[in-house]
Amino acid sequence: MQISMEDLVKFCKQYGFIFQGSEIYGGLANSFDYGPLGCELKENIKKIWHKKFVQENKNIYSLDSAILMNPKVWVASGHVTSFSDPLIDCKDCKTRHRADKLIEEFTSGLETGDGWSNEKLETFIKENHIPCPKCGKNNFTAIREFNLLFETNMGVTADKKSKVYLRGETAQGIFVNFKNIERSSRAKIPFGVAQIGKAFRNEITPGNFIFRMREFEQMELEFFCKPGEDIEWFNYYKNFCMGFLNDIGIKKENLRFADHKKEELVFYSTATTDIEYKYPMGWGELWGIADRTDYDLSTHMKHSNQDLRYLDPETNEKYLPYVIEPSLGVDRLFLAVISDAYTIEQFDGKTREVLKIHPALAPYKACILPLVKKIHAEKALDIYNLLSKQFMVDYDDSGSIGKRYRRADVIGTPFSITIDDNTLNNNKVTVRMRDTMEQITLDIDTLQDYILKKIQI
Ligand code: ATP
Repeated sequence: MQISMEDLVKFCKQYGFIFQGSEIYGGLANSFDYGPLGCELKENIKKIWHKKFVQENKNIYSLDSAILMNPKVWVASGHVTSFSDPLIDCKDCKTRHRADKLIEEFTSGLETGDGWSNEKLETFIKENHIPCPKCGKNNFTAIREFNLLFETNMGVTADKKSKVYLRGETAQGIFVNFKNIERSSRAKIPFGVAQIGKAFRNEITPGNFIFRMREFEQMELEFFCKPGEDIEWFNYYKNFCMGFLNDIGIKKENLRFADHKKEELVFYSTATTDIEYKYPMGWGELWGIADRTDYDLSTHMKHSNQDLRYLDPETNEKYLPYVIEPSLGVDRLFLAVISDAYTIEQFDGKTREVLKIHPALAPYKACILPLVKKIHAEKALDIYNLLSKQFMVDYDDSGSIGKRYRRADVIGTPFSITIDDNTLNNNKVTVRMRDTMEQITLDIDTLQDYILKKIQI
């Protein structure tokens, strides 16, 4: 059975994965801080994405562009005029909602409202008597568009000229650097640019823990290809992304594709799909994959007056590449990973909580346990110092060995290493596996390689 959202929030706080932001001041709506274990898990998620999307592909390059960009970028991309959500207020209880999400929830996802006009959304809500989720009445205001870009001011004055935006997505940093990367890396189409970084959206209805936040992190790839070859690459990335989620151990039954219907596609996209995950609160978008044609490069070419076309060195043809964009939220993947892995098991009449996370993602790869502190601590610290040069290692010398195993299980540490007399006399340690609770004996000399092999992905 999947953990409830309420229990997951408690779990994350108790073990130092995620805390409420600014907690001692009463918090700040939907801001969260990643604690010691959360930082490690999040970092591992990003490392593995980088490995699979950049390191193992010779035609994909990295970028780390600035969060603050020339405001013209956001005019060109369309964010200033149309990066908005359809906002509707309940006249009775004064709560605020997203019209498309009301429809999506009411129809259990059969209709998403994506790509609908405001008129169509309003009519659907009226005709189907969709109730306000708070008070149950159907008495809504007309829809107003609410822009999601956060504004701030650059320099000392707060006048209009100095207005800048916090980026609403990382993707635009890639488009404006397309030529820089092509030139500096001598990149040939098809090639991709990958970026991990923070994005900001003034969401109207944030919620569901870290699922919808105002400050979040994205891992985006823009893969540039020849027009005409785009659908092939779109299908390639659909499979590649799903394969990635399977490889990191997310259960297949909790994942599905939600292809956007033709009439729901944004005007420049020829195909879009979401990979959805079955979160504790229900199915929700984890990863958006879109064929964005040449929309982004062509709009930046127009607004910047720079030639962003690609010159094919073989055919001498000049053209604007098409782009496939798999866009993934780090925090949404974090939420999927942790809710997927959390397990409660019964054994020998006892209950154990265990985080069955892929070893490559686990915050700590191993935990060092000196059986008797006074006798085994020195050797245990030697082993800690040896292993911690390679990966994150925990050290626990308090309480019974059984209790210490439980503590390692609940935070997902795959290997618990006990140091006892056999270690002092024969250089052997006992390694206990988190998932099976099976124990093996290993020589200290082989320990490091053994773990390194198991945490590969
Ligand atoms: P939604 O429909 O849920 O608002 P979206 O379609 O606007 O999402 P995209 O613009 O496609 O999302 O962003 C790409 C990815 O970034 C999403 O698939 C998601 O993983 C992540 N993401 C988007 N908005 C948020 C948010 N407010 N909080 C956390 N992650 C987000």
